[in-house]
Amino acid sequence: LVSRKKQPENTIIDVKGNLIGGSAQVMIAGPCSVESYEQLRTVAAALKEAGIKVMRGGAFKPRTSPYDFQGLGVEGLKMLKEVADEFGLATISEIVHPGHIELAEQYIDVIQIGARNMQNFELLKAAGEAKIPVLLKRGIAATLEEFVHAAEYIVVKGNTQVMLIERGIRTYEKWTRNTLDISAVPLLKQETHLPVLVDVTHSTGRKDILLPCAKAALAAGADGIMVEVHPDPQTALSDAAQQLDIPQFQQLWEGMRNSGLFT
Ligand code: PEP
Ligand code: MN
Repeated sequence: LVSRKKQPENTIIDVKGNLIGGSAQVMIAGPCSVESYEQLRTVAAALKEAGIKVMRGGAFKPRTSPYDFQGLGVEGLKMLKEVADEFGLATISEIVHPGHIELAEQYIDVIQIGARNMQNFELLKAAGEAKIPVLLKRGIAATLEEFVHAAEYIVVKGNTQVMLIERGIRTYEKWTRNTLDISAVPLLKQETHLPVLVDVTHSTGRKDILLPCAKAALAAGADGIMVEVHPDPQTALSDAAQQLDIPQFQQLWEGMRNSGLFT
């Protein structure tokens, strides 16, 4: 169902009036985790000022260690809704449990399925029954074929509003957290009709090469970019090393707009 052969025209997803997969690219920014109302409001205000319409923020965090911050859960989703309503933003947040899909429909605009859950088939099936769009992240060691099949699990259940996001894969390279697979962008665009985005933060795990990586993604045909922004990254409860602060984010955003690649 997701094959370009089956449907030649692009799937365009309407996220609160923001069309993703069409002629304009989307910028999705926000903190790794929702940590507090104030933290989220500070980021939302900066996004609004920059003209960015879609905010991310994790409430259910899939952490490598059980001793790390696990997210604010439902409270975090409620904060996302409150802040999004105040600033007129759309929101994206990760859901890790099939039983939480309805909660997502109530509080957020797009369900994110994280890299670690790309092949959580019961979660994919539940997301396939959701009434809101899904942003599916590529698994840490997933082939493109496995990624496309995971998307098919969602679409076959009836939810055609699926976006794919390349977030880097695990290789032997240590200078980046993951290896950004740029070839995934044109290949997924060619093989499927779904919007294809690139998460420059998780794919690199760095702050200093985001602009060239974002430009490469856009040049390769990506429909959007995701980046993590935190008011004070050093104190962040997750991904402290890789989140941009607000001035760094503004600089990246300016660079992207000046590149002429972001329409
Ligand atoms: C995230 O976007 O917050 C996240 C955990 O990313 P990933 O699933 O790609 O690791
Ligand atoms: Mn993160």
